[in-house]
Amino acid sequence: MESIVEYFQHIPSAHRSAILLGGLTFFFLLEGAIPLFRWQYNKWSHAGINLFFTATTVLVNFLMAVILLRSSDWVVANHFGLLQWMPDMPLLWYTIVGLLLLDLIGAYFVHWTEHKVKWMWRFHLVHHTDTNVDTTTANRHHPGESVFRFVFTTAGVIVCGAPIYLVFLYQSLSAALSQFNHANIQFPRWLDDALSWVLVTPRMHRVHHHYVLPYTDSNYGNIFSIWDRLFGTFSRMDNDRIVFGIDTHMAADEHSRIGSLLKMPFQTYRPPVGAKFDPPGE
Ligand SMILES: [Zn+2]
Ligand SMILES: [Zn+2]
Repeated sequence: MESIVEYFQHIPSAHRSAILLGGLTFFFLLEGAIPLFRWQYNKWSHAGINLFFTATTVLVNFLMAVILLRSSDWVVANHFGLLQWMPDMPLLWYTIVGLLLLDLIGAYFVHWTEHKVKWMWRFHLVHHTDTNVDTTTANRHHPGESVFRFVFTTAGVIVCGAPIYLVFLYQSLSAALSQFNHANIQFPRWLDDALSWVLVTPRMHRVHHHYVLPYTDSNYGNIFSIWDRLFGTFSRMDNDRIVFGIDTHMAADEHSRIGSLLKMPFQTYRPPVGAKFDPPGE
């Protein structure tokens, strides 16, 4: 356990990039071998768009990383935040509690907010416009979303009082799991069902990408599925009935061009069927 702490405390940027690229390559190859949906789409041009947004996400996080490091150092030095105020516990327990807290405050709650606050939804929408969800969709985030998500992540680290090893461990697990649960792969149903009691699985996250409400506004979980079950936002849907995308932006020239996707948050707001903020027709 100590060696894990030691490793993630000083994890080089190159290793973090390797985890991201390694996972992406692994699932990309697996999708070629055992795809779940056999779409007639250009997998490479689709990947090109999503990799552009992955690159901007990595760039934003890289440029702002020093803020995250300083914040984490500060909470530890000043004994600030939930983890710092807890009684002493074995390192393994401390790590599990820390991962759960970061997942709830820095991920689940932030994702839920992105669906409930209009200006945030305008940016987060870009993640939902993908009509062929595969492993490359995992980091399809508008650069604006990457910036405000970073701010919330930092706030989450401060509230949780998370040491830096925990932050980097969480982010590495999050990247790998996100690539897994977006992957267009055949995965045994029994194993998916069993894992979904604790983790966000492909069958669970696909429901979040169904094109209409109320499914879009469910299954917000990032690593752990327990928050959706606890707060009543868990939903199931037969994966064969799923239509990926978002009802307001189903036209290919909008969701399959980098320029259109970059401009998307600034266009006139379109209420989805099922009225997210403004009832349609008003
Ligand atoms: Zn979402
Ligand atoms: Zn997603």
